[in-house]
Amino acid sequence: MINQKSVQLGSVRSVIRELFEYGKKRKAQIGEENVFDFSLGNPSVPPPAEVGQALVDILSGSDPVAVHGYTSAQGDASVRAAVADYINSRFFSGVGADNIYMTCGAAASLTITLNALLNPGDEVITVAPYFPEYKVFCEHAGGRLVAVRGEEGTFLPDVAAIGRAITPNTKAVLLNSPNNPSGVVYPAGRIAELCALLRACGEQGQTIYLIADEPYRELVFGDAEVPYIMNYYDNSIVCYSFSKSLSLPGERIGYIAVNPAMPDSGTVYAAVCGAGRALGYVCAPALFQLLVPRVLGLTSDISVYRRNRDRLAAALEEYGFKVVRPDGAFYLFVQSPEPDADAFAERAKQFELLIVPSGSFGVDGYARISYCVSPDMIERSLPAFGALARSYGLTGAKG
Ligand code: PLP
Repeated sequence: MINQKSVQLGSVRSVIRELFEYGKKRKAQIGEENVFDFSLGNPSVPPPAEVGQALVDILSGSDPVAVHGYTSAQGDASVRAAVADYINSRFFSGVGADNIYMTCGAAASLTITLNALLNPGDEVITVAPYFPEYKVFCEHAGGRLVAVRGEEGTFLPDVAAIGRAITPNTKAVLLNSPNNPSGVVYPAGRIAELCALLRACGEQGQTIYLIADEPYRELVFGDAEVPYIMNYYDNSIVCYSFSKSLSLPGERIGYIAVNPAMPDSGTVYAAVCGAGRALGYVCAPALFQLLVPRVLGLTSDISVYRRNRDRLAAALEEYGFKVVRPDGAFYLFVQSPEPDADAFAERAKQFELLIVPSGSFGVDGYARISYCVSPDMIERSLPAFGALARSYGLTGAKG
């Protein structure tokens, strides 16, 4: 018999993918412009012009073998040095090329890191709501995901509750800020509080690693800042991806940065290399590795997402919905007007609005709206949101 867990994972689509597929069918039935698909987090803004130009330059270079050939398993040395220099100039100091492992995006950064750290039965604490694939990634690495609900209303990490969830099996805490699906950015004070808790565990002989999943680091609006985890805690690892910041999710490029201040950083880096090898994730796409040094620090035009957020959040509040304050990423988390978020998302479908119920993110009673869509679609969708609000008799509802 073949591996039944894999059969099950491959046969059952995620709720998000299910909704996306439904949207495709519905668009074929009633016309693309009549379906308001807020299901997927696929960036809608093109990559910055520098990306295309850099790719042309790289491809017109004289050595096709260097462009398309294997790099070192952990990534090209000069690319890793450039990433390290960038981190040192922006966020932290002391990072070297041998703290960096180039990956196929954040998903690979996470699976490699979890496989590097976990022994069978280890637990990984995360804050709910969380990216649903965390459970799959942890379980495949032999561990167990333990979700601790964020504080009511703000969805910030509840440090006391995290403290209560720590057991002798806790190996890591996995944070994602700006957060998918809530859009919440965890402020420095809260990060410092959590790190004090983890340091206290270390003093009692239990090392707990802190993993920061950061595909949305650059997607912040207003004066929100995303604290760099290495400045707060030595036993930390950053899992980064260029998928969202540069609108390159299909190209599969990112990196892992192991904090050089970690007492056993050489061993952890060796484990990262070993897990990358065992998972077959060596040598991230060479062309996109070579692109990285030329575009570090650039982003797509994120002002589009900001305008979308402002327009949509204001309209939803006007209609009487309650939304969680979103400082980053490109997601709005809206409270369901009825306790059952699945029923809310189902009712939204009647108005051709495709929004993701919160159950798969580990909390009840909300739905996620991905607003990385065209401003035009946001505008056209507002009457439907108004009608949805009216169907619940929400006060302030108009449209
Ligand atoms: N982590 C979070 C929180 C995400 O939202 C995503 C993708 O949406 C990923 C990881 C995976 O990112 P990538 O496409 O870079 O693998």
